[in-house]
Amino acid sequence: MADGPLMESHTVLFVLIAVGLDGLAGLAGGVLSERWLHQRLPALVAFAAGTLLSAVFLEVLPQAVEVQGAATFTWAFASFVALALLEWALGHHPHHAEAAAGHAHGHHAHPGTPTLPVTLLASDALHNVGDGAAVAAAFLVSPQAGIATAFAVIVHELPQEVGDYALLRAAGWSRGGSLVALAGVQLTAAIGAAGVLLGTRMLPSLQGTVLAIAGGSFLYIGAVDLLPEMRRGPDARQRLVGFLCGLLLIGGLHFAEAFTGGHG
Ligand SMILES: [Zn+2]
Repeated sequence: MADGPLMESHTVLFVLIAVGLDGLAGLAGGVLSERWLHQRLPALVAFAAGTLLSAVFLEVLPQAVEVQGAATFTWAFASFVALALLEWALGHHPHHAEAAAGHAHGHHAHPGTPTLPVTLLASDALHNVGDGAAVAAAFLVSPQAGIATAFAVIVHELPQEVGDYALLRAAGWSRGGSLVALAGVQLTAAIGAAGVLLGTRMLPSLQGTVLAIAGGSFLYIGAVDLLPEMRRGPDARQRLVGFLCGLLLIGGLHFAEAFTGGHG
């Protein structure tokens, strides 16, 4: 538990590093080569699904239960349903995989429903505030939960950012303008993180609630947005390997820590 001032400054440092790395993920679409993306995107999406789902079930929800008790599941359920309704209300957000796949295959992902860049960036910013809050809440509970959550956040942002970059370019934005906008929007995660770090001083139950909400939304993104991509298109083996790598990454962290007695 992060009570002492020393632990607290460590927690803040960890959160800063995680948010910074998350910001760098905003550059993925412009920095990674199109050829590499074309080959590896299905695996990357599956990797993100595996990372998110194992983080939800091995770290985020168990830690939230420790802090928050059974109310965890009410919050997680509420955030899952809220995301489903939001996606329904906004129309299908050309998310991570499809938009990115459109990019990698060199055609526009959703010719019928162009997303306005400003809408896209605003909803991204909102999403990133939530991601930043989740990372901070997880680091407040334990470094291990924090690292697992940070991995889950950064890995699922990669295909998302690739797709967003493709949409901005398709809307006529310059390469530099797109990258600056995406990295800037990505750094709104710092607002969510700062909100949790400061807010928990006044309202200690906040971190449990934030973790529970993050659990529900990671579950939604992993199971509803990303996992169905596993069943589509060629490269089935590549996607399976990506998914298993995601499970192994977070599962490995979890069990390594359990064996060395890091936390219960
Ligand atoms: Zn995210």
